[in-house]
Amino acid sequence: MQNFSRFSKIRIHSKIEIMESTVAKINLEHFRSNLKFIRSKMALGAKMCVAVKADAYGHGAVECAKVAVASGADFLAIARVSEGRELREAGIKSNLLLLSLCLPEEMDELVSLNITPLVFDEAYIELVSNAAKRAKKDGYPVHLAVDTGMGRIGCLPQEAGEIAQKIVSCGLHFGGICTHFSVSDSKKEKDESYTRLQFERFLFAIEEVRSKGIEPGIRHCAASAATLLRPEMHLDMCRPGIICYGYYPGDLSGSELKPVMSLVTRVSSIRVLPAGSCVSYGRTWKAEKDTRIAILPVGYADGLLRRHADSSVLILGKTYPIRGRICMDQCMIEIGDDKIERWSEAVIFGWENGGQSAQMLADRAHTISYEITCAIGKRVPRIFVDGK
Ligand SMILES: *Cc1c(COP(=O)(O)O)cnc(C)c1O
Repeated sequence: MQNFSRFSKIRIHSKIEIMESTVAKINLEHFRSNLKFIRSKMALGAKMCVAVKADAYGHGAVECAKVAVASGADFLAIARVSEGRELREAGIKSNLLLLSLCLPEEMDELVSLNITPLVFDEAYIELVSNAAKRAKKDGYPVHLAVDTGMGRIGCLPQEAGEIAQKIVSCGLHFGGICTHFSVSDSKKEKDESYTRLQFERFLFAIEEVRSKGIEPGIRHCAASAATLLRPEMHLDMCRPGIICYGYYPGDLSGSELKPVMSLVTRVSSIRVLPAGSCVSYGRTWKAEKDTRIAILPVGYADGLLRRHADSSVLILGKTYPIRGRICMDQCMIEIGDDKIERWSEAVIFGWENGGQSAQMLADRAHTISYEITCAIGKRVPRIFVDGK
């Protein structure tokens, strides 16, 4: 744990966690710096809604939400009522925007937690309205979701006026209107024109709402990619997610963002396997000669998935290949004749010791950085490191 000495403040959840061999170190300084960079890209006066859904993409929702609010986030985006409950129980009073739909059974709790839902159909609007009436909350705010081409939640653009009237006639407050892009992280011409088409449809939906004499409130459509690439689409609010955690989405790249998470473990054993030995389930890898193998106590239950078997691990600044299949709780790496000691720290990915980015792991496994950090298991303690 020698790397802690660089930081003046360490926050650790409990005494047990520092004793764990595999931990996710969360650099809140990097998170804060990413938020500052994002803000610098946004129009003055535009609001920022930081996505902290899915436990802040695996980074720890409460800690990240606190930093986001202190850094000036106007909204926090969540995907489950239970995520809102966790934030409220931690004393977070910020506006919460629910990006997915909840069940009728959750509606009373949604209202009691003051979570702003996305709505787009009459039956669901009535559920929210009835819950607000039961709680005696007049003018409860909702945002209208418009499907401009994502094919997920939202009404069609031409329905927006009528649905807006339904919202208002139910006694709810029309707090905002939003849409979500499906290919805004692509720089291909056909994708850029699709994003422009989605944006045009969104502007049309906003006019439909206005034509009914209803103010559209906060208009928002830009997630991470459009926040960085398309300032003309920021409108009244941006909803960045992945860029807050230090990764560029899709075709974007740059050097300003800093990865927030490091997944680190410690060598639990070093063995010399005789030539001809096989390693791990399925015997997919065989030692051609006598081979030094280090055992790492990290596996797919921690989020180092089986499909990352072609990846490598960093020890003292050098990378070593994973050999054989990744098991649930352990994996093996080949370390040659290098002077590596038992209990040495090994970096799977992250900011520590110049570790490879989770982006590299993602590229190699044909997935996206989002999936890498979201997959980090529940048993991996998040250790919050903060220079402030
Ligand atoms: C998850 C999500 C976001 C954030 O997406 P990123 O690509 O991580 O920026 C924004 N808006 C909606 C509706 C989302 O579901």
